[in-house]
Amino acid sequence: MEFKQKYSDFFETIHPDYMDEERFVPSVGNEDADFVLVGEAPGANEVKEGEPFVGQAGGELDKVLHKIDVDRSDLYITNLVKVRPPENRDPKKDEIEAWSPLLRKEIENIEPEIIITLGNFASREMLNTKKGISSIHGKIFSREGQKIMPIFHPAAVLYDRSKEGDLEADLRKAFGKDNSGQRTLDNM
Ligand code: URA
Repeated sequence: MEFKQKYSDFFETIHPDYMDEERFVPSVGNEDADFVLVGEAPGANEVKEGEPFVGQAGGELDKVLHKIDVDRSDLYITNLVKVRPPENRDPKKDEIEAWSPLLRKEIENIEPEIIITLGNFASREMLNTKKGISSIHGKIFSREGQKIMPIFHPAAVLYDRSKEGDLEADLRKAFGKDNSGQRTLDNM
């Protein structure tokens, strides 16, 4: 079912200030996924393609997923805010709040094993913390019975290659992949 149709209760009630059809990007992926990836907000490429993480940051993410033998089709990929903020600015608190009931519903529906939050915005929001990503990335937290792992945003890795190893190591841990690309037994 089409995303907006599936979550029509939400879309019928969202305040018009927060919805913009021209800049809206729906979540994609496997509704039975064990893994949900939560980004910040779509960028220009995502709006053009109508899919999250298809621009430069998406390319970086795909590169690491490929390296650790994880297929995008095994994932559900979403953003905190589903409308591209003007000039690619950071999403604002009220925008995050306006879209949060939808994210909550998506997660309730998918019931993932673990939520992987990409970067400071998604991590701080989902973990209700002010801590920065550098001090919490790669750790598995539990909030309301839900496992959550914050990782560096792939866009941050584009600007600072020294974070590349951490991004790979954290994703390996989240997906239970050892260095040979196999899933570890205790995660099966
Ligand atoms: N960055 C994000 O946080 N989300 C996207 O969908 C693309 C880039």
